[in-house]
Amino acid sequence: MGDDGQRRAAPRPLPPVLMYHSISPATTPDPHLLRVHPHRLGAQLRALRRLRLRGVSLAELVAARDRGEGAGLVALTFDDGYLDFLEYAVPVLDRHGMTGTVYVVTDRLGGENDWDEGPRLPLMDADQVRRVAAAGHEVGSHSATHAHLSGLDAAALRAEVAGSRATLEDVLGAPVHGFCYPYGDVDAAAADAARDAGYDHACVTRDYSVGDRHTLPRFYVGQRDTGPRLAAKLVRHLVARARVR
Ligand SMILES: [Zn+2]
Repeated sequence: MGDDGQRRAAPRPLPPVLMYHSISPATTPDPHLLRVHPHRLGAQLRALRRLRLRGVSLAELVAARDRGEGAGLVALTFDDGYLDFLEYAVPVLDRHGMTGTVYVVTDRLGGENDWDEGPRLPLMDADQVRRVAAAGHEVGSHSATHAHLSGLDAAALRAEVAGSRATLEDVLGAPVHGFCYPYGDVDAAAADAARDAGYDHACVTRDYSVGDRHTLPRFYVGQRDTGPRLAAKLVRHLVARARVR
């Protein structure tokens, strides 16, 4: 997964990275707009296919980009590790021949999203996380406790970033390449911590200001994003990335 430092010199276009959270047909209140219905996800993936784009894990997209083969790929990322990823997202992804990355909170496996005010949703346990990996999807770290990382002292930062990688590697019995900053909250120390912990790459939310390998921007996709709206967001991504190059 590493690039041996040889190819790092040439700037590469930032890949389009879509950010999802919960995929579920539930009709309970969703004040943070975290939920996308599985039918809507299916429509969005159909829209990608019409654009001749294929959804893959962020690790696969970054590796392809390193080889100069990222065109035609879009990364699909799913934050927090909700149980509904296994129940609803995996079958839809399978149907379209696509894969994704799910970012799990390693000290909360089998628990709930207790870091959020509002509705509690169940999170995958270790066994379910292994099933996701066995089904061909990437599992990355979303920290140990879903803490805000900017401003943390060095020891706490290490526990959240390096500690969660070690925990997840134990769960999976395989190396973990990707990290996702909770709340997209990252400062220079947190990005250094991700690099030092051995992650190949890491992603934030929206922020196109840095956009290096350990602060890859993503954009939010929600229930309101019909196929045409998603296509428009992809165009906006291309414009935003053209500006930072
Ligand atoms: Zn999160």
